[in-house]
Amino acid sequence: MKKIAVLGSTGSIGTSSLDVVRAFPQSFCLTALSVYSNIDLLEQQIREFNISVAAVVVPEKAAELQSRVGGLCTVYAGTEGLKELTATADYDVLIGAMVGFAGLAPTLEAIKRGKRIALANKETLVVAGELVTELCKQYGAELLPVDSEHSALFQCLTGEESKFVRRLILTASGGPFRNKTREELFTVSVAEALNHPTWKMGSKITIDSASLMNKGLEVIEARWLFGTGPEKIAVVVHPQSIVHSMVEFTDGSIKAQLSTPDMKLPIQYALSYPDRLERSFVETNFPLIGSLTFTEPDLETFRCLKMAYEVLSSGGTTPCILNAANEIAVDRFLKGQIGFMQIPEIIGKSLEKVESFSHPDLETLFECDKITRKFAESLVF
Ligand code: MG
Repeated sequence: MKKIAVLGSTGSIGTSSLDVVRAFPQSFCLTALSVYSNIDLLEQQIREFNISVAAVVVPEKAAELQSRVGGLCTVYAGTEGLKELTATADYDVLIGAMVGFAGLAPTLEAIKRGKRIALANKETLVVAGELVTELCKQYGAELLPVDSEHSALFQCLTGEESKFVRRLILTASGGPFRNKTREELFTVSVAEALNHPTWKMGSKITIDSASLMNKGLEVIEARWLFGTGPEKIAVVVHPQSIVHSMVEFTDGSIKAQLSTPDMKLPIQYALSYPDRLERSFVETNFPLIGSLTFTEPDLETFRCLKMAYEVLSSGGTTPCILNAANEIAVDRFLKGQIGFMQIPEIIGKSLEKVESFSHPDLETLFECDKITRKFAESLVF
């Protein structure tokens, strides 16, 4: 029986993770949960799974929940409380399903305990990939991907030697604006950007998918998960989202992992690895799917993907700058304060103006994140 903790248990990945745990009561049990502020759903989850420790990032909400659940569950408050939860709770696997840079600090606590981390929070590896992978080695922690593309790559690479890998091929759905011109993107609405054709996800990642920043972040994530140089990571647009990613080997042979898109599959694999469980959430019917198509991504229209490749080559704190500026820009776009095409503009200006450093330690990364957020905010008026 594996004990599971879920950070971000009320979001899209979080609720899917709970579905997986529910489906395999013989294999998994939940021991700790955290949320940003959604205490209504968290309270239900605590009662359903008999959870004795939880954390809520917004302190007032934590206090309210504590008074509701009484002695049933201890509720930690704030970002410090979240760190304490990951540092002390009883679990074998941590599912990191929080959004953004905020996922880094608690993930590090789990790494220091040498746990298995099923990582859905790609920003952790984007910002601190070098540091996180080093610490994982040092503490014997195991980082397994939950992102569908990286789960696919991981499955294709299992049993293969890295010297035989020619390139990783990440697939991208292309998002809702796949067929739009640069000019058309200046006037797209928030509602249009949130209308993803193949995946149902949280709002931040859905906007990242529309701008192709999500694929950019995933290229960086793949670099750290698999130790592959940026020149060996390719992106191909595949609107059906059936091929989740591919690996090409030195002899020209290519392995792909396919299924009807459903995040419960990569979550389940990260929990059960190296085993596979006897039940599936998805059915894949090829005659029904019909055709699978592939095209080149348009890096001139979707500048975010291009900038992600650039920061991966520059290294140091530049991925942190890219990520922080993107988090601010996406938030402001969702609030209707800026247009869609101002997202790459704000990121570009931040990369130009914010000072960068090589081989940053944790403190430098936190400082860089703070400075970049302030700078990016100053560009919105
Ligand atoms: Mg993905």
